[in-house]
Amino acid sequence: MLEIKNLHARIAEDGTEIIRGLNLTVNKGEVAAIMGPNGSGKSTLSYILAGREDYEVTEGDILYNGESILEMDPAERAAAGIFLAFQYPMEIPGVATMEFLKVAMNAQRKARGEEPLKVPEFLKLVKEAAASLNMDIAMLKRPLNVGFSGGEKKRAEILQMKLLEPKLCVLDETDSGLDIDALKIVSDGVNALRSPDRAIVVITHYQRLLQHIVPDSVHVLYKGQVIKSGDKSLALDLEANGYAGVIGEAA
Ligand code: ADP
Ligand code: MG
Repeated sequence: MLEIKNLHARIAEDGTEIIRGLNLTVNKGEVAAIMGPNGSGKSTLSYILAGREDYEVTEGDILYNGESILEMDPAERAAAGIFLAFQYPMEIPGVATMEFLKVAMNAQRKARGEEPLKVPEFLKLVKEAAASLNMDIAMLKRPLNVGFSGGEKKRAEILQMKLLEPKLCVLDETDSGLDIDALKIVSDGVNALRSPDRAIVVITHYQRLLQHIVPDSVHVLYKGQVIKSGDKSLALDLEANGYAGVIGEAA
């Protein structure tokens, strides 16, 4: 479903190379974890997948269902079923969360050739999804992410993911800022989205989240490259021994 081949990318503004020959394959139905120390390029990779213009791909390719997405703008990528939950979700003053969800869901439906949702239908879906994440519906009347706590922002991201039913989900540090209870709720939300026709990429630098979302594969990102891949036991190994061993092996 996702095939990243020898990807090189730099910051558009100053030309600093951040992603340096990254290879990664994630299959349909798979939950892949990307781990790695701070500053290794994990968030940068998620921005590049989203199509942010601050980064330039200089070499390599990103294939989604066998086709390159490099020429697609962020809206086209979203319409194709790619969803990214960011480490720092953007605050959107003046746009009520509800309104945002309605516009996003209807854009997604339009891309699939479906009619827009009727209001009662929409409300029913949102209420059910919010309840499953222990979110107060009153919060959804507030502007998106404005004044939300760290945990509330993460829940709002998972809520969007549930409602938009993407095919490829990338979650960047979804565990940061969450207490244990919220972590459980968010993980349950992600686990409920596991399905044979969906791939989920979970980015984290702690093993904690992976006790709740058990990955099929684990990849260590360091200095813009995947330096080691393995199964879930690799995450346990990293937790016990830190990144130094794996980094040493690769050097
Ligand atoms: P991670 O998410 O793994 O902690 P990041 O992708 O956030 O790492 O960052 C990787 C490196 O790239 C860091 O050294 C960071 O400072 C740098 N970097 C990323 N984006 C920018 C940018 N827009 N401007 C300057 N430096 C950046
Ligand atoms: Mg990051």
